[in-house]
Amino acid sequence: MASAKTQLDKDSLAVLRAAVDRLDAGFAALPQYEPAALDARALETILLEAAQRMQDNFPYFHPLYAGQMLKPPHPIARLAYAMAMYINPNNHALDGGRASSALEKEAVAEIAAMFGWGEFLGHLTSGGTFANLEALWVAGQLAPGKKVLASKQAHYTHSRISSVLRLEFEAVACDDLGRMDLAALEAKLKQGSVGGGVATVVATLGTTATGSVDPLPGLLDLKERYNFRLHADAAYGGYFTLAGNLGPEARAAFDRMGECDSIVIDPHKHGLQPYGCGCVLFRDASVGRFYKHDSPYTYFSSGDLHLGEITLECSRAGAAAVALWATQKLLPLEKGGEFAQRLEASRAAALALHAKLQTEPSFLPASAPELDIVTWAVRGKTASEASARARKIFEEAAKRNLHLALAELPRRFFGLGGQGTVTALRSVLMKPEHKDWVEPIAKILAEAVEKAG
Ligand SMILES: *Cc1c(COP(=O)(O)O)cnc(C)c1O
Repeated sequence: MASAKTQLDKDSLAVLRAAVDRLDAGFAALPQYEPAALDARALETILLEAAQRMQDNFPYFHPLYAGQMLKPPHPIARLAYAMAMYINPNNHALDGGRASSALEKEAVAEIAAMFGWGEFLGHLTSGGTFANLEALWVAGQLAPGKKVLASKQAHYTHSRISSVLRLEFEAVACDDLGRMDLAALEAKLKQGSVGGGVATVVATLGTTATGSVDPLPGLLDLKERYNFRLHADAAYGGYFTLAGNLGPEARAAFDRMGECDSIVIDPHKHGLQPYGCGCVLFRDASVGRFYKHDSPYTYFSSGDLHLGEITLECSRAGAAAVALWATQKLLPLEKGGEFAQRLEASRAAALALHAKLQTEPSFLPASAPELDIVTWAVRGKTASEASARARKIFEEAAKRNLHLALAELPRRFFGLGGQGTVTALRSVLMKPEHKDWVEPIAKILAEAVEKAG
């Protein structure tokens, strides 16, 4: 039977059926029981209504969705997650998820190995926010009352987390490429050594707005001299360490990530996972002591490590670990492998789009992207006219099914004089398919420019 042309994969649902059968077989020795009866018609009515409501979304899976950081999970992740949901394990304690805890430990060890870490402490979290919270919490436990520094382009979560943890936070200036300015940092470190002191510097490897990579080699030199804790927020960019087509500065930064004290990376950003999957890693496993607690009712089934003994979150989705493990089995985290090639395709797409933008007289692209995020301002007599034109082009592109994003960025990123910011266009080319869609994207953009006037 020839299947009609559709956008979403449904063929793999047969594989899910086979996997649930296999799971079921493991429990065959139990006495038969009668699950509560299902009213299939009621289920169907409501599920179809939910599907109808879900049509009100941008088509995140499609290459013409080239806006925010949204990437469809790999089918294997979707299927493994759905299969695991029949058990719904909780990776807090081995009592709640024996198999999925083992899979989490294996999958996290594979992530740590990307940074050369064999011995470490780490686990999955609900996302990058919580992973960064744990990293800064540990930093605060080691140096109570001292400051946290991150760049002005670091994710806003760092200043908010610092306020939750009651740690003082300061933002450090960036260069024209959106990377932390080492001279500005050093000035603060000098001041800091007089005042309360700086406990922690957050290096962002792949900023959320522009994919800029902080200069880690220079930060490590400063760490030698000023002795602070260095945390790498690579929630977005971490996996790019596997890509073979980075520029020399980004390459040099990723190559030294293993020298940081802690690392955050989000499998639900570039790791092909559904939301609910972040990861935090600590180079010194002894920081596990800070997590110690005495739960009167949790850890009885085994003397082995229960992940809840080294996490701040209590209940965590075991299904997320199963999905990650399965994805890494299919697409191992290795240089030159298929997973790495997908990231290389994204970066190639970003470079190609950047080159195209330079040929459009209305556009002022930022410097060449370091990862797969492209930003560009629109020409205008004033900053407000340039911002208004960008918004208009954004809308006209969306009418033609091309979904971009807008970002408020420093004018100097685009070679525009003056202080302050401008509303610019932004495109995150996270899907490998984007490589083949740069032409169509550029064509729609040209139409949108024409229409926006
Ligand atoms: C996305 C992101 C975060 C926040 O992570 P969530 O998974 O959205 O909670 C933190 N830092 C960076 C650099 C990010 O890109």
